[in-house]
Amino acid sequence: MKYLKKIELAKDFNSSKNESFGMSVNSCDRCNGPTNNSTTTSMFNQQTICMSCKDEEKKDPEYDAACQMENEEIRKGNYNYPGAIPNYTPIRLLNN
Ligand SMILES: [Zn+2]
Repeated sequence: MKYLKKIELAKDFNSSKNESFGMSVNSCDRCNGPTNNSTTTSMFNQQTICMSCKDEEKKDPEYDAACQMENEEIRKGNYNYPGAIPNYTPIRLLNN
């Protein structure tokens, strides 16, 4: 029982971390590389990513579908939409 409680607390910690994203980060959430003060939000999840990761996302065959899903959710008023694929793995890593 104590153990289960610990897992719940860890989950809460992770979700609150995802919600408080700043508009300017020094390192990319996805590749951990420097962002050169130029970041954007992933179309697949809530990560703040660098422009080269964004370029890579655009090459993902799921990108257009993810854009459409996000547009639909926002039209419905769901501004807390977590992204089409919250546990998204870049194609670069899938191919390795
Ligand atoms: Zn990156």
